[in-house]
Amino acid sequence: MSAQEEFDCIVIGAGVQGSFTAYQLAQRRRRTLLLEQFVLPHTRGSSHGQTRIIRKAYEQDFYTQMMQECYELWAQLEKEAGVKLYRQTGLLVMGPEQSSNFQMFRNTLVKNKVPMVTLNHGNFSQHIPNMVLAAGDGAVVDVTAGVLYADRALKTVQEQFQKLGGILRDKERVTDIKPGAVITVTTSSHVYQAKSLVVTAGPWANRLLVHTGLNLPLEVLKINVCYWREKFPGSYNVERRFPCFLLTEGEESKEHIYGLPSNEYPGMMKICYHIGSGTDPDFRDQQTDRSDIDILQRFVSRSLPGLFPEPAVVESCMYTMTPDRHFILDHHPSYRNIVIGAGFSGNGTRSNLLVDVSTSLQTATMLLFHLCHDCHGFKFGPIVGKLLCELSQGDVPSYDLSPFRISRFLDKTKSAL
Ligand SMILES: Cc1cc2nc3c(=O)[nH]c(=O)nc-3n(C[C@H](O)[C@H](O)[C@H](O)COP(=O)(O)OP(=O)(O)OC[C@H]3O[C@@H](n4cnc5c(N)ncnc54)[C@H](O)[C@@H]3O)c2cc1C
Repeated sequence: MSAQEEFDCIVIGAGVQGSFTAYQLAQRRRRTLLLEQFVLPHTRGSSHGQTRIIRKAYEQDFYTQMMQECYELWAQLEKEAGVKLYRQTGLLVMGPEQSSNFQMFRNTLVKNKVPMVTLNHGNFSQHIPNMVLAAGDGAVVDVTAGVLYADRALKTVQEQFQKLGGILRDKERVTDIKPGAVITVTTSSHVYQAKSLVVTAGPWANRLLVHTGLNLPLEVLKINVCYWREKFPGSYNVERRFPCFLLTEGEESKEHIYGLPSNEYPGMMKICYHIGSGTDPDFRDQQTDRSDIDILQRFVSRSLPGLFPEPAVVESCMYTMTPDRHFILDHHPSYRNIVIGAGFSGNGTRSNLLVDVSTSLQTATMLLFHLCHDCHGFKFGPIVGKLLCELSQGDVPSYDLSPFRISRFLDKTKSAL
């Protein structure tokens, strides 16, 4: 190997977003290097675990519209690799019927003609056995939704990338980035050069961007991933098409709770809370807050009487959140040949924020008031990969990326001052 290998593009971070970006670049016959700090597969970022929810139900039209194409891209990957990555179960959305969040979900489904079913207290238990709809709550089902087999999906896209000639190197931590017309990337063992760079480093994004003088307002949260044992095995099974569910807000909290039918651990449903505690990605296990589990226990006792209200398994994962809970998909403000994909773990509806995002090495400051959000980046992997690839190649992106621009934080700062 030469001291400085050259590529058309280097992608840093082999989570779902970096892997799909690298795959898209390789499909376009760009000589692409995908770098990952850990030995693959690993459980230290945000893309591990066997399942994720895929859905079109969103509060905002732009996500629902992006998901239309995203479903097709997932299906293409399944066909190309001959691997099953998706199982349709439907997604039950519940929340106070008159609340704006619940109404937004329902309206977006209606407006975008997503196949859906509306349930009420009279017919709920007939369709969704073993679950209780809270008084005053409405319920709609996004029929298109289901479960993505996350670990399998990640492995598949990385394999397809390599089949296309892409180079994947794990156990290589990027330690330095030197911007320029040709970018130099130094890792724990090599030095590489490329015409363009994509940074998809999940919770570590700012650790890398500091080398380019950028500090984004990203918040990293540790999430307790809880699995709850069924009292009668099979009651909440994926085989029986028990749906995924999402609680927009309810008695227990103002924040979302979501669940997936039992699948990865037989006889256990995955149910989590969308809020975690701030953490350093390299010291995630030192964050031991379990207050979210108390909230979940109350919810499980009230709404899912067929589960023991004690988590049987607790794992962890990290969310990387922007202040408004929308993604960052953009060029670096100072270097056009550096593209950034970050902040994939939260989707929000209401925010009041004051943010300072600077191209200096200052720490970003932000004030966040009530936010309602949920995790959502995995399902967008194929479309995020396509968009980051387009940005890195200087193409006009396939979607309006204004909700995802870095300048939105700068604009907010200016208007707040
Ligand atoms: C508990 C939980 C549940 C979720 N549920 C859903 C769901 O149901 N549906 C859904 O759509 N989404 C869901 N999400 C969100 C989704 O999983 C994330 O948005 C997505 O995985 C983020 O991917 P990423 O590629 O940005 O980050 P990551 O997966 O963290 O990937 C970043 C990679 O960059 C690597 N890296 C970092 N620094 C360096 C460096 N210096 N050198 C080399 N490599 C580096 C890291 O090791 C890591 O592998 C969930 C997330 C969590 C935590």
